[in-house]
Amino acid sequence: MGYHLRQRDLVAGKDFLIVDAGPTAGGAWQHRWDSLRFADAHALADLPGMADAGVTFEQAPRHIPASEVVRERYATYESHYDLKVTRPVDVTRVDREPSGDFLVHAVGAVDQLQAQVVIMATGTWRTPRQPRDPGAPDFHGIQLTTPEFGAPEDFRGMRVAVVGGGASATGFVRELTPHADAVHWFTRRPVDYLDVAGSPAQEFGRESVRMQDEAAQAGRPLPSIVSTTGTPLTAPVRRLLDSGSLVRKPMFSRLVRDGAVLQDGTFMPLDAIVWAIGFHADLRALAPLGIDASEGVRVRDGHAEDAPGIFLAGYGPQASTISANRGARVIVRDAAQYLDDGAWPPTPPRKIRAT
Ligand SMILES: Cc1cc2nc3c(=O)[nH]c(=O)nc-3n(C[C@H](O)[C@H](O)[C@H](O)COP(=O)(O)OP(=O)(O)OC[C@H]3O[C@@H](n4cnc5c(N)ncnc54)[C@H](O)[C@@H]3O)c2cc1C
Repeated sequence: MGYHLRQRDLVAGKDFLIVDAGPTAGGAWQHRWDSLRFADAHALADLPGMADAGVTFEQAPRHIPASEVVRERYATYESHYDLKVTRPVDVTRVDREPSGDFLVHAVGAVDQLQAQVVIMATGTWRTPRQPRDPGAPDFHGIQLTTPEFGAPEDFRGMRVAVVGGGASATGFVRELTPHADAVHWFTRRPVDYLDVAGSPAQEFGRESVRMQDEAAQAGRPLPSIVSTTGTPLTAPVRRLLDSGSLVRKPMFSRLVRDGAVLQDGTFMPLDAIVWAIGFHADLRALAPLGIDASEGVRVRDGHAEDAPGIFLAGYGPQASTISANRGARVIVRDAAQYLDDGAWPPTPPRKIRAT
């Protein structure tokens, strides 16, 4: 967003303000656990103008933590384009004033802001899906979701269940196997592998983007990523399968104090459960405007259709570094148009055919 706003000669801190709850650059990536190396990520697309800022992901070192790679490159990018991101500023609620403008409440370096347009680019990291499985509150062992994962060594000697069918879950099985006493992989649906070998990054996930877009336009809750892509069959996943370390078990029927009851009625003792079951968009600050990501939001091209002046960058079909660039360009264009004519949703400029 910042890059495209700067391309219009808008000045950060004067015409627009970027605020971020995170301590440094890097978005969600700065919080990924240290054992997740850059080589373990699917594919990170460059932000527009990254090469001009002297940084790209193509030449990034692959065997250091992904958090470090992304943090450093995004920090360089922010300073190159003079984005003046204000940190830490945690936006807690957005109210609409009688004038139609927004009053943005926050905690941190800024506590209140007035704005004509609010672009939420808040990602999903702080709102993982929570388990609602029978018995989950009764289980006495450790339970954590993806953002709470610290280090695989924390699970030394434990019997661990990893739940989820996506890349995070298979990554946890791979990382935990050398440390834990036993790692069991549970998924709700049978696993449908997506062979990613050789497919260009732009093609990967095209169908997933279409399904996310369809749900967003209809205002339905977004489908989980894995239900739209299948489980990525990367080289590390193939190695795990070949070694016999990745064996899918159908979801257990319930948890009890010391473990799980499997579908055939047998008891499996467990010390820990890692819930890698996906994320919701983090739109909690928009609750005063009637927006609830778990219920679904009507979104087309990043416009929240029922909330004039609210844009959702990185929502649904835009939620990867590959789709974010186009999404940001369109949102900046449409925000400018909305400020100009007040029409909502903004109508894209029509192409005029020369005769
Ligand atoms: C487990 C996982 C793996 C992924 N792997 C890949 C991958 O390999 N390749 C890929 O392209 N994409 C991947 N993604 C998608 C990921 O969403 C994008 O890579 C990218 O992080 C999205 O950028 P973003 O800026 O939209 O959101 P984020 O990176 O989540 O950034 C959101 C920012 O908003 C800030 N924020 C949140 N709430 C507030 C608030 N209330 N007030 C102020 N600031 C706030 C946060 O501090 C953060 O800095 C993955 C996602 C997940 C969850």
